[in-house]
Amino acid sequence: MTQTDLNTDNSSPSAEVLVLGEYSHISLFASGDDYDALFEPVDDVLFFAGEATSSEYPGTAHGAYLTGVAAVGEM
Ligand SMILES: Cc1cc2nc3c(=O)[nH]c(=O)nc-3n(C[C@H](O)[C@H](O)[C@H](O)COP(=O)(O)OP(=O)(O)OC[C@H]3O[C@@H](n4cnc5c(N)ncnc54)[C@H](O)[C@@H]3O)c2cc1C
Repeated sequence: MTQTDLNTDNSSPSAEVLVLGEYSHISLFASGDDYDALFEPVDDVLFFAGEATSSEYPGTAHGAYLTGVAAVGEM
């Protein structure tokens, strides 16, 4: 996976008063596997969650929540 496979917009729309948020999007050649790769912990010490780690419900609040629950379950 490269940095461009799975991106959030670096223009930081969270600071844009008419948007107030953002979520991930994948490039043409990426797949759900890239979301799963972002979920993988590092050395069982550093854990990740959030919509960008959810291959099942990317870009959604419930995807973010469920990956948080799953990450806690892996600790
Ligand atoms: C306009 C819009 C409408 C949407 N509508 C829906 C909808 O109807 N239904 C739905 O399910 N989802 C919707 N979504 C998507 C949903 O809001 C997101 O999927 C969800 O908020 C993602 O949660 P998250 O915890 O992964 O990330 P976020 O909610 O983005 O949380 C990430 C947090 O990390 C903080 N942060 C970033 N960088 C740093 C740093 N370096 N240090 C410390 N903190 C940092 C940010 O400030 C932010 O608070 C919408 C999104 C947008 C933008």
